[in-house]
Amino acid sequence: MFKEIPVDVSIAHAGERIRKNDLHVELGGPDVEEKFELVKVRQGDQVKDSAITVIGPDVADMEPGKSYPLGILIEVAGPELEPDFEGVIERRIHEYANYIEGLMHLNQRYDTWIRLSKKAYGKGFTTLRFVGEVLEQLLRNEFPIIGQMQITFYTDAAKISSAYAEAMNSYEARDARARGLTDDEVDVFYGCALCQSFAPGHVCVITPQRYANCGAISWFDGRAAARIDPKGLIFPIEKGSCLDPEKGEYTGINESAGKRSLGEVSRVYLYSAFTYPHTSCGCFEGIAFYIPEVEGFGIVTRGYKEATVNGLPFSAMADSTGGGRQIDGFHGLSLEYMRSQKFLAADGGYARVAWMPAGLKEQMKPFIPPEIFGKIATEREVKNVGELRQFLVERSHPVIQRWEAEEENPEEEHVEEPGHAEMPVFSAGELPLSYGGLKITLKNARIYADRAIIQWSKPKKPGAGE
Ligand code: SF4
Repeated sequence: MFKEIPVDVSIAHAGERIRKNDLHVELGGPDVEEKFELVKVRQGDQVKDSAITVIGPDVADMEPGKSYPLGILIEVAGPELEPDFEGVIERRIHEYANYIEGLMHLNQRYDTWIRLSKKAYGKGFTTLRFVGEVLEQLLRNEFPIIGQMQITFYTDAAKISSAYAEAMNSYEARDARARGLTDDEVDVFYGCALCQSFAPGHVCVITPQRYANCGAISWFDGRAAARIDPKGLIFPIEKGSCLDPEKGEYTGINESAGKRSLGEVSRVYLYSAFTYPHTSCGCFEGIAFYIPEVEGFGIVTRGYKEATVNGLPFSAMADSTGGGRQIDGFHGLSLEYMRSQKFLAADGGYARVAWMPAGLKEQMKPFIPPEIFGKIATEREVKNVGELRQFLVERSHPVIQRWEAEEENPEEEHVEEPGHAEMPVFSAGELPLSYGGLKITLKNARIYADRAIIQWSKPKKPGAGE
């Protein structure tokens, strides 16, 4: 199918990781300010069919080891195409680009990131046109309603800005459309299993008030995708009966999660980070992480590169959050979910958020209750959990009522749902153990301990100081 392309193209390469030492060049990613991938439905006469254009340096002109801007604009036309399909087609860029051997695609929208390996470049992968050819063929196969398609790559920092602005406006328009609808007003939610090649047990449940973790698929997008192919990877979920309106537990979601995760996940709370939280693959835009010392949450997004208030950066917590597991207190989420009235509603919503990066806090200002806004700390006011505690007391943050309640009743037995306030010191999707000739595999293991002692396992060199 791709005879002209010098590397293999197959689903077998999805999930391939390219480390820094192995990369030839990277495009987009954390070191680049303006990056995007966007699908737009246009009129037929606005699209030059099968045109693939690179505006800026192509791979052959790039300096090895460097980062470059990345814009991928795919314009499609066809009598049956509707703007609702844009987000659905766009999300396939991640899947199909990852089929290319030696090319790693991460994230979506304004976080897109591509790495090309030295090996692929050595085999002759010298142009982004190859990526365009793969996307064109596979998108046409998946969506026969696409008539004309043209693909433009932007790699020049001076020429990406107007296309980047169009992308940002398009994302905002799509997201704003879903904002007016509530979960109670619809009978059907949508599930997405697109990321199961990375996290086999994971399914996103997309509701009007709980946007997909990747931030790329709204309830309207889910509806459009399911209309094109109801048996596909984005599918309808009948709500069934509501078992718990506060936590957001529905019989239909539980049944669907059990079936699609092959029994790994049997219950899902849509609006809580505890007990049966919505699972995460690895594509989430942010993480809500529980800080037990203050009984509140920190929130960090992918673009924040510093260590958070608990000393861990996004990348370290992403390992604990992803993989399709249900881990108490590590919750993958999208920015749009942070704009929802149902945002961590069962855990207290913004009244439970203690720390956020300053940029994110400013971005979310219109959605944070004004009486809470000044009580949430950022990296500008506090550097560690001790300082955070002090800040929360000074600002009378609502979480301190939880501390006071505990202090008033110290001897009262504290009964929580399993795992509610405890933090695991170790968690793993699968933990193999050997005991007395038996091999035991613990699934979704969470190990709790009174103390964790961390020591170097290598012996010290003779003569090394204490
Ligand atoms: S993060 Fe969720 S909604 Fe987004 S593509 Fe993956 S499974 Fe689908």
